[in-house]
Amino acid sequence: MSIRPLVAGNWKMHGTSVDLEQLVLMGEGFESASGGNADAAICLPATLLARGADKVASGRVKLGGQDCHFNEKGAHTGDISAQMLKDAGAEYVIVGHSERRTDHGETSEIIRAKAEAAWAAGLVAIICIGETKEERGAGKTLDILTEQLKGSVPAGASAQNTVIAYEPVWAIGTGLTPSLDDVAQAHAHIRATLAEIMEAGATATRILYGGSVKPSNAAELMAVENVDGALIGGASLKAEDFLEIAKAYK
Ligand code: PEP
Repeated sequence: MSIRPLVAGNWKMHGTSVDLEQLVLMGEGFESASGGNADAAICLPATLLARGADKVASGRVKLGGQDCHFNEKGAHTGDISAQMLKDAGAEYVIVGHSERRTDHGETSEIIRAKAEAAWAAGLVAIICIGETKEERGAGKTLDILTEQLKGSVPAGASAQNTVIAYEPVWAIGTGLTPSLDDVAQAHAHIRATLAEIMEAGATATRILYGGSVKPSNAAELMAVENVDGALIGGASLKAEDFLEIAKAYK
């Protein structure tokens, strides 16, 4: 089955009002850059979501949040719920990004609860997994991916409510990427593991590659079997780079 790819950006803790101009340019240019062959989502800082939603209302680019709380509401100062993201215009939310796992001590159990909260609010959960440099060095990559998938993907996951992002931690923001063979092996393993843990839809679920994707390496990475798009950090901040990456699908 052919899967419609998703080109997703993660602005992380970057961007103020002035940067919404980049979002407008992405919205205007994505259809032509991708040849109409892919979907796009930009996961904005929560402060920009509502205004960003106004900017891309009629376009192909959808919006996402970068994290959500696992509770629907309550006494959680500084946190944001999936419903709030939805209300502000998001359709996706990233959960389990390695920066959240590291900076905030998020476990797979917490991430699973966040994915469930995302679904309950009507959002698609982009669940991130990936090994550290040490784990790769110790030959544990596939075991880590299995463990994170089994721990983070809730029962009830479907191709409609879930996207998996494979992001080797050591490749994020470093300019380093795994070999194409290593990407192929990891993605095939993720697909096989999804088939074990999902009741249905494993062959239709999007598996994104993330970690130092840029215009110069996007085409070769996106051409790897079982790579159904990208999760892009640094190169999603400027429309020029993001649209250049989208050309991998033209
Ligand atoms: C990310 O943060 O999800 C990411 C992949 O970052 P970068 O593209 O900058 O490596």
